[in-house]
Parts: sequence; C-alpha cells; structure tokens
Amino acid sequence: MVVATRRFEFSAAHRYWRDDWSAEENERVFGPYTSPYGHGHNYTLDVSITGELDERTGMVMNMTELKAIVNEVLEEFDHKHLNYDTPYFRDQVPTTENLVRVLWRLIAARLPAHARLKHLRLYEQPDLWAEYDGVGETQFARLYTFAAAHRLHAPALSDEENLAIYGKCNNPNGHGHNYTLEVTVQGPIDPATGMLVDLEWLDRTVHSVIDRLHLRHLDREIPAFADRPSTAENIIVYLWNELAPLLEGRLALLRLWETRKNIFSYAGPSVIPA
Ligand SMILES: [Zn+2]
Ligand SMILES: [Zn+2]
Repeated sequence: MVVATRRFEFSAAHRYWRDDWSAEENERVFGPYTSPYGHGHNYTLDVSITGELDERTGMVMNMTELKAIVNEVLEEFDHKHLNYDTPYFRDQVPTTENLVRVLWRLIAARLPAHARLKHLRLYEQPDLWAEYDGVGETQFARLYTFAAAHRLHAPALSDEENLAIYGKCNNPNGHGHNYTLEVTVQGPIDPATGMLVDLEWLDRTVHSVIDRLHLRHLDREIPAFADRPSTAENIIVYLWNELAPLLEGRLALLRLWETRKNIFSYAGPSVIPA
C-alpha cells in the first residue's frame, strides 16, 4: 500500500486548566500553562492516508481533495482559542495528545470510502509532537540535544586497522558533534491531565541521562565507552539501556542524529524501528 502525506499548518491559542480543580491544583500540575490569557503555537499537521491506487489517476486520493477536506476541518481551529472557540476541550485539556485524537476523529469521518487515514503527526513546536494511528496508543516525541567530543577507536583492533576503518574519526585527540536525540514515548493518556507523560518529568528524566554526556569526551570520561567504540550505534543503545527503565515501559523509539546526515534509530533489542 502506498502512503501519501500532506503537511498542513494552523495557528491557535490554548490554556491548560481544569474547572473542577482548585487554582492551586491547576498551578501545581500545569504551572505556567494555566495563564488565563492562554498562549499559542504554530501547529504543523502531517496527514498520511492510504488506500488502493485509482487505476485511472494513479493516485491514492487527489491531494487537492485531501487539502479541501483537511482545511475544512482546520478552519474550526485556525486563529482560534482551542478552549473557548471550539467545543472539543470543555472537559479535556487541549494538550497535543488530546488535539491529535480530536483531529483524527474529524478528518477520518470526512474521508471518502476509497481512502483511509493512516497516521497523524501533530507538531506543537518543531521539537515536540504527538502521533496517532487511530488504533494503537498515542505517541509523544520530543527532541533534545547534547554536545560531546569523541574518537572512534576500537580497543580490539590495531592502530593501523583503526585508522583504515574509522579514517579521520580516529584522530587521536578526538573531534565532536552536536547530537540530537529524539525520544518517543507511547502509552495511555492520563484522562485528568490529557498528557501521556508529564513533560517536566520527561525532560528531567532525559536530561538526567544526556547531561552526563553533555560537554564531555565520551571515550575518556564516560566509563561505558572506555572499552567500546563511541559509534552512534553504541551511543543509541547506551541511551536506550539507561532511559528505558527510567521511563517505566513507555519508551517506544530513540532516534539519534550524529550529524545532520547520519541518523540512527533504535526501538530496543530485536525490534526493527518503523
Ligand atoms: Zn501550548
Ligand atoms: Zn564523530
């Protein structure tokens, strides 16, 4: 099956607040997101559809038709306040996780019979998004960065072999990267908060691991890489092994950019990431 994706954008304000909680409780759980005036985002929505190819047109669905359907849905949200101007967040918090599921319902119901909604990815910010495929659990992802020096050098190989295999990455004094780590968690949404995980808890947990690597020389300062080459493959497995227990079974996928051109994905032992 071919999957076709089209990107949409809309801008909206929102506020995290529950009327049935005291101001103190709202403040404790949602912090600065409780402001009565709200704040806003440029949302980006990637809509993926699939279906039998139309033999005459060679398309899953005419993108112009998809554009019209999704834009009609988004009109209700674009340049609006999600809490006050739409009917969907009277009894649930307008988190990215809840919003992506609302959009799923509205878009899926409008698609013609020959097309099927396959996947939605909703970005609240370029480094934070939620994903939903209509059947499974919701996913939530966030990007983090750390900067570290390293040298690719395998203790099991001779100096000549190391130089032949790793080339300039074998430079004895090392070199470094801005690593970008994408952390995807998956699970049920807490009906009270509308969140899959508390964002501050996720940030704290991920930082507790990556801050150990930030501004360090991996081979010289991180024991895990003392006898193991600090390839991105070994780094992503290390990060998974450190993060998975802390994230209490919710870690679904890690993606690591060593440079903008070298990207690695890991979903745990013996799982091939989608
Ligand atoms: Zn927000
Ligand atoms: Zn390198």
